[in-house]
Amino acid sequence: MTGYSKLNVITRLTGGFLVLLIITTSVSVYAIVKLNEFNKASTHMLDMGDRMTGYKERLSNALLSQVLYEKKYVISTDNTLYNHFLATSEDFVRYLDEAISMADTPVVKEMLANIKNQHIEYKTLFEEEARHLRLHKTYRTGWYKAEKEKTVENMLEELNNLELYVEEDIKNRIKGLTEAGARALKTAVAMAIFSLIFGIILAAGITRGITKPLAIMKRKTREISRGIFESSLNLSSPPEIGELARAFNLMCDRLGEMDRMKSDFFSLMAHELRTPLSSIKAGITLLEKNEGCLEEQRKERVLAILSEECNRLIGLVNSLLDLSKMEAGMVSFDLAPGTMRPLIEKAIAEIEPLASVKKISVEFNTTGQSPFVIMDNERILQVLRNLLGNAIKFTPEGGRITVSSRPAEGGLEVFVTDSGSGISEEDCAVIFDKYKQATTEVHARIRGTGLGLAIAKHVVDAHGGRIWVESKQEKGSTFAFFLPA
Ligand code: ADP
Repeated sequence: MTGYSKLNVITRLTGGFLVLLIITTSVSVYAIVKLNEFNKASTHMLDMGDRMTGYKERLSNALLSQVLYEKKYVISTDNTLYNHFLATSEDFVRYLDEAISMADTPVVKEMLANIKNQHIEYKTLFEEEARHLRLHKTYRTGWYKAEKEKTVENMLEELNNLELYVEEDIKNRIKGLTEAGARALKTAVAMAIFSLIFGIILAAGITRGITKPLAIMKRKTREISRGIFESSLNLSSPPEIGELARAFNLMCDRLGEMDRMKSDFFSLMAHELRTPLSSIKAGITLLEKNEGCLEEQRKERVLAILSEECNRLIGLVNSLLDLSKMEAGMVSFDLAPGTMRPLIEKAIAEIEPLASVKKISVEFNTTGQSPFVIMDNERILQVLRNLLGNAIKFTPEGGRITVSSRPAEGGLEVFVTDSGSGISEEDCAVIFDKYKQATTEVHARIRGTGLGLAIAKHVVDAHGGRIWVESKQEKGSTFAFFLPA
């Protein structure tokens, strides 16, 4: 019955929505994280650019101030100017160190280190010149001037290069960021499209998993309305619908069974009513046509047949009423403790005339002390009459019937054994169902309704007992029942 999934509807829906929620959350988280990264990276880059430009400005100013003080000192040898040079030189070095520690690319670091070396060279040149001046020595003024100007120019050029490089670097980085942003956007869009398609497929799968078995059931219901009761619903479905399908199959089985019973009932009725009614009609016609001229003996025989057929009809109607009342639970049982022996003896005495006509011997064996059993005497007598009646019916002339009873655990067992036709294994399995009769040739020749054993089973079941048959074809049968004490 069940197929791929044992997941119930609630689990499927919750699971599906959870998967969709996880996917959409992942897409959103991915987009947020990427956006944040870009934001941080661009802020950092712009900040870095601003700071580098600021340092470049400060370094240029500090350098130009140094040049100014240094030039004035060379002219005036005023110590205050020399000290101003040292102070601005220290500022220059401090700015330079700060810029080096902040720099995040090896090229910028190298450029700044270059400027630092040039500055050391420049400062050394000036200090040497200042020493000469303090000692009032003659020195190569022009050479110092030219060398200092060269280093200062180099430094200024390197600072300009630095500024250009930083600008270019920022541009490149923004380009890189834009490309990465476009890639991230593509990924996010792809993820969103995937989750949308996946969501649609998932939703369609879940819906189909629920609606498909329902559609099959709808189709099956239509078949039932056309009288096709086969229980063939084999669905791959959630457990709740699986349960429904199982109940549906059960209903189909029951409907099919009822349908078969209805057909059995009609065929039985057609046969069992038509045969006696035809006999009765034929008998009446015979009496009418030959009124007065029919000999007494023949008239009596016809009347006997009419009475027998009427009795058969009354018996059939009574049995049908009895069984339907029992099935509807409308029969109350008059239960009281009693012994089985007198009932068996009564049933045997009643059947004796029939048995002697067929030259069948009927024996009664009883073993052990017969315990009291709780029973409705009339109803149990009805069961005994049916079992003995069948035994006589299905045992050929000269046969033997033995009735025996023995105490069993918790009650009493009664056996009716005959040396009759016997019953096949398949028939044994169904003869307690109503309208069911054995199908062999011997049985087909003997008239019956298939109601007696069904009634007997109802009666014994109502007593809390059990009824069964043991038989082999051509070897006779033993019908037995157990009643609790
Ligand atoms: P009926 O005898 O009226 O057909 P029952 O319900 O009493 O109805 O019996 C059902 C069927 O069981 C009979 O038609 C017969 O085929 C089979 N059956 C019952 N008792 C015997 C028996 N002692 N020997 C052989 N067949 C039997």
